Amino acid sequence: MSGNIKNLKLELVKEEIERYDRQLIIKGWGVEGQKRLKASRVAVVGVGGLGSPAAIYLAVAGVGELVLIDKDVVELSNLNRQILHWDQDIGLLKVESAKKKIQKLNKNVKVETIKEEINRNNIIEFIRGTDVVIDALDNFRTRYILNEACVKLNIPLVHAGVYSFTGQLTTILPKRGPCLQCIFPRPPREIEKFPIVGVTPGIIGAMEALEAIKIITGIGTPLVGRLLIFDGEDFTIEIVNVQRNGKCPVCGGK
Ligand SMILES: [Zn+2]
Repeated sequence: MSGNIKNLKLELVKEEIERYDRQLIIKGWGVEGQKRLKASRVAVVGVGGLGSPAAIYLAVAGVGELVLIDKDVVELSNLNRQILHWDQDIGLLKVESAKKKIQKLNKNVKVETIKEEINRNNIIEFIRGTDVVIDALDNFRTRYILNEACVKLNIPLVHAGVYSFTGQLTTILPKRGPCLQCIFPRPPREIEKFPIVGVTPGIIGAMEALEAIKIITGIGTPLVGRLLIFDGEDFTIEIVNVQRNGKCPVCGGK
């Protein structure tokens, strides 16, 4: 699925065979799938409510390299949902707080940290060479920047967003399905301080990790051209088809 995973010659050591024992026996996974994960580099853009569970599950699954991107420091009001950050971390950079925990979870994962706000100039260099990018941002202004860069570099992008008890998820394989701009031509109305219970990004962020793992191992069918809409209040999950826009200013006609 992901075309640019390199260095599959990396062998698994005995410790890894034991650590990943229960996933190695999944149909279609095996040593080959695990080697693909080990050789992969995934960017998690935003290390908050969505980025925490996404990074945790990517790390424990054995992704070789994680690139964590976030400019913010940990605040007390983050702690109801951003589970990589604890009381002791208030005032620390989120990327540093997250790196400490991830390395304790799985010492095999290499963690790179970038403490910058993304913009059109820097994002290309930040994500170049990654196999999947996780959108764990909280606003469409920066999501559109990320989407453009992923389309330009032809990198799969897993998008998610959450609000209160609800969330949404889709996967963008550039040129093979709609991009974020095709699906959301205009940004939805956003407020800076939106309501949220931590379980919602916990669920949706874990689903983002699952999509990335599927893309890397080649197992299953990612949510390309499909938008999953989750409502935890009534417990409904809807999946709607979404189309490419031939006139999309980001991906149309290219
Ligand atoms: Zn598009």
